[in-house]
Amino acid sequence: MIVFDLKCEGQGHVFEAWFGSSADFEDQKARGLLSCPMCGDVRVVKALMAPAVAAKGNRRSVAAAAPAEGAPVPMGNADEGRMRALMQAMANAQAKALEGSTWVGRTFAEQARAMHYGEKDRASIHGEVAPDEARALISEGVEVAPLPFPIIPPEAQN
Ligand SMILES: [Zn+2]
Repeated sequence: MIVFDLKCEGQGHVFEAWFGSSADFEDQKARGLLSCPMCGDVRVVKALMAPAVAAKGNRRSVAAAAPAEGAPVPMGNADEGRMRALMQAMANAQAKALEGSTWVGRTFAEQARAMHYGEKDRASIHGEVAPDEARALISEGVEVAPLPFPIIPPEAQN
């Protein structure tokens, strides 16, 4: 259903009417089924009523301001310094956590699984894993967690 602001051409009365679609409006108008509720004039046109248009515009902009799922969240400049400090603190924490950890690269899933099932001594490891493989590990109960920051593999460093 859509609502149109309509206006009679004779005296300029403005009124609202609901239609199933824009085509419905055209169809009813063409068949002379539309008339002004105040004076009965059948010469009815779509009105551009300034206050109503503004109200609808406001509603639309409120909806557009709500971020869609997965969309980037707008961040104010005032938060930038604090955000950067937080990111740095998190990066430092990650670096510290990885100090005693061994980079195992693409064999991560295999090794994490071996440790989980007791085929290998437990140790702190980090490496690369495809998202679906990470989900599989988690569903098996293997204790894995994504790192908040990307790691430069040792073989790529230099
Ligand atoms: Zn009228």
